[in-house]
Amino acid sequence: QNTALVLPAFSVAGPEETTALGRRLAAVLRPGDLVLLSGELGAGKTTLTRGLGEGLGVRGAVTSPTFVIARVHPPLGDGPALVHVDAYRLGGGLDAMEDLDLDVSLTDSVVVVEWGEGKVEELTEDRLLLRIDRATGGTATALDPAAGAADDADPRLVTITAYGARWQDDPAAGAALLGLRE
Ligand code: ADP
Ligand code: MG
Repeated sequence: QNTALVLPAFSVAGPEETTALGRRLAAVLRPGDLVLLSGELGAGKTTLTRGLGEGLGVRGAVTSPTFVIARVHPPLGDGPALVHVDAYRLGGGLDAMEDLDLDVSLTDSVVVVEWGEGKVEELTEDRLLLRIDRATGGTATALDPAAGAADDADPRLVTITAYGARWQDDPAAGAALLGLRE
């Protein structure tokens, strides 16, 4: 039924590496693709989206859309626009997305949704879920003198799960996802 392709988790060392991952991901995506980003506040969802915007070549700085909920970055060239959504305060479902009244077609854009899990799946069966987790676990405690410094650049564990025929029926697409690890 709803099978998913779960890729082996890999780690990214710091914000630059997370941005670079976003750039590599951009090369794999095409118009109409949906990417959900999950992970706690400060995990690096917006940082990754920034790299994605660089890779796609879109206008405007990619910053957190927390207060505007969604931001459209038009393409600089002839690639797709980037639609960057923060779904934290968004209701679920297609209606909520349509209510945003974006002036672009989602099927012509690359759509990235932070906090989108459980909210925007009905947009399309084909989607990627990127989970970003702090990889330091319990080691960065107040007792750890390096904890403060490590806060600036510490490793993240990235787990990519791919859903739908777009990613699972085309071996090249799956291989491209595997190639995202450095
Ligand atoms: P989110 O959108 O998930 O809330 P942000 O991308 O806005 O997170 O913020 C992530 C913060 O963590 C940034 O300040 C970034 O510099 C820092 N950071 C440290 N290490 C990493 C890493 N490996 N990947 C991404 N961000 C990191
Ligand atoms: Mg964010």
